[in-house]
This record gives sequence, C-alpha cells and structure tokens, in this order.
Amino acid sequence: MNIMLLGAPGAGKGTQAAKIIEDFGLAHISTGDILRTAVANKTPLGLAAKTHMDKGDLVPDMVVIGLVKARLQEPDAEQGFILDGFPRTVVQADALGVALGELGKTLDAVVSIEVAKSALIERLTARRTCKQCGTIFNVISQPETASGVCPECGGELLQRDDDTVETVTNRLEVYERSTAPLIAYYRDKGLLHAVDGSRSADAVFSDIRSIMEG
Ligand code: AMP
Repeated sequence: MNIMLLGAPGAGKGTQAAKIIEDFGLAHISTGDILRTAVANKTPLGLAAKTHMDKGDLVPDMVVIGLVKARLQEPDAEQGFILDGFPRTVVQADALGVALGELGKTLDAVVSIEVAKSALIERLTARRTCKQCGTIFNVISQPETASGVCPECGGELLQRDDDTVETVTNRLEVYERSTAPLIAYYRDKGLLHAVDGSRSADAVFSDIRSIMEG
C-alpha cells in the first residue's frame, strides 16, 4: 500500500508515520527528515537547503522532486511507502504523478490530518524530538519531558531549529498558500480521506488504520 500524509506543520504527520510504520512496515519517505540529515552532514544539498528551511520557506521544487524520485527507487519502497511532507506544491504533486507512472506504482490513499491553526502554533513551539530514537514529544501535554530527557530511551530531547515562534508563523502561511490547495487536488482524484487531527495520536491512528484496512 502506498499512502500520503497531508497536513499543516504540527498536524501530526511524523507521529502518525511512526505508528503506521510500526504496524504496517511501510517505507518512510519524509523530505523534511532527508533534508535535516543533509543539513546535519553539511552536504552541498544540506547547505543549499538550510537557508530556505531556517526561514520556514520551501526548498525549491526541483530539489525535493529529485530526492523523492531517487528514494522511491530504493528497495524498501517496493513493499509500500508513506510520503510524509511531500508533495507540498501542485508542481510537486504533478511530478509525483509522473514519477509514479514511470515506476508503475500508484497512490492508494491521501490522508489529510486536519488541526485548527491556533493549536498548531502551540504544538510546534512545544515540540521536542529525541536525538537518539527520533520519538516526537510535546512538552506541554507531556510534562515529564520538560527535563529534556527522552522517557523512552534516555536520549537528549532537542527542539528543531525551525520550531521557533517567528519561523512557525511563516511555515503556516506557506502551508496555506502552497500546500493546502493539494486537499482539493487529491479530492478531485478521489483519493482524499480527511481525519480530525485535534484528538489524541492513538485516536487519529485508529481512523488512519480504518482507512488503510478499508
Ligand atoms: P517538515 O519536517 O516536513 O516540516 O519539513 C521541514 C522543512 O523542510 C520545511 O519547512 C521546508 O523548508 C523543507 N521541506 C520539507 N519537505 C519539503 C517539500 N516537499 N518541498 C519543499 N520544502 C520541503
């Protein structure tokens, strides 16, 4: 099964992707993760992407399209994949359609995780990620993480560079302008399933599971 998670920054795409991988064993294709790794390794791609990411702007379409095309051809994508954070523009969505056609693959479902904007700002600025195991936490709803230590593995909890109040506001505007039109794009293709992302991660996952098993 090949699925895509669509939603604003902070809607819970990464959290749900982790749950889906645990239960369904799909390949995780997160352009944000690929770009953050490139930034951390100071590769030419990372250095070029960082200026856009630090401002909360999108990395140019051609760059991310190239990354995803290559990633889709890796062996683990054969058993099915989750696209998380890609596509983010209509240009990317069109390119994805072409790339999948060339590879003889299809997209089975697009899950749109919907959360009110006011809740997103709070979620993003409260987000912390474990440096060691990658688990995502929220320091407000999970006060046990306020010490900065991962309750799962004891690793250090870090705040993403782009989860500051200033950058978050721009990222939400970019989402509204460039990515939200994809909701209608995939609805028109008959692929869209909307879920209420304001609930607990487990409640949201239960809906996603029904969609995937549906
Ligand atoms: P994310 O982890 O998905 O929130 O992505 C973090 C940042 O990486 C975004 O704010 C963008 O700067 C960049 N990025 C991730 N995915 C894409 C994409 N599909 N198109 C353009 N930029 C992206």
